[in-house]
Amino acid sequence: MIETQNLQVSYNNDVLALENVSLKIKGPTITGIIGPNGAGKSTLLKAILNIIDFGGKALINNNEAKKELSHVAYVEQKSDIDYTFPIKVRECVSLGTYAHLNLFQKVGKKQWEQVDEALEKVNLKEYGNRQISELSGGQFQRVLMARCLVQNADYIFLDEPFVGIDSVSEQIIMETLGTLKNQGKTILIVHHDLSKVRDYFDQLIILNKKLLASGKTEEVFNQTNLRKAYGENLIMGGA
Ligand code: ADP
Ligand code: MG
Repeated sequence: MIETQNLQVSYNNDVLALENVSLKIKGPTITGIIGPNGAGKSTLLKAILNIIDFGGKALINNNEAKKELSHVAYVEQKSDIDYTFPIKVRECVSLGTYAHLNLFQKVGKKQWEQVDEALEKVNLKEYGNRQISELSGGQFQRVLMARCLVQNADYIFLDEPFVGIDSVSEQIIMETLGTLKNQGKTILIVHHDLSKVRDYFDQLIILNKKLLASGKTEEVFNQTNLRKAYGENLIMGGA
């Protein structure tokens, strides 16, 4: 379980990016985090991951989250990633196995088999020897999913994984995440396309600096909660 208690973040001790956010996420689930630009969605993930300073508590498995980070796989928001880094697809995926290796231990036959298996699952078997800089956005995102698969973490945090990618890649990623959930994983996805919320997430967190709602998607994904987050002018077909 992931839990935050009165989580509070202010960048440069200035404006509050998150205010008293208390929530619980139980697995296995696929939980969406939605809210307008600047709502603090990425900030919430980064606080739990101990990448930034915060007030209050962040817990994973009832322990301080920062002591449990070996159980978490994280794919950051795209704009934060360096695509031009010279590394081949298989090598990039193999980085996910490092969590299970001892210091100085090399990636061996068993790990490479896991890498190839993961690449097959995301339909990129033929791309193993390509440079990541030569992939499309969707293919690269699938490489990062393959890295999550070999990492075999109990918790998977994805920050806007579908931005700027093709619908086939999006479909493959959602199928992969469904498989991971069925294996017992807890998946947390920052997302901004409201039209897919009902299809993709069984649990939902609605955020705008404060926690506005959290619970089963069917119970919290409604006009009242969305207006609280996005304002009165929001027009949402399916909600
Ligand atoms: P979201 O992911 O929901 O779009 P963020 O968590 O990225 O929002 O940002 C929340 C707020 O914190 C925004 O007002 C943003 O400008 C601010 N912020 C984010 N990162 C930083 C930073 N490194 N330094 C200063 N302010 C930041
Ligand atoms: Mg963000």
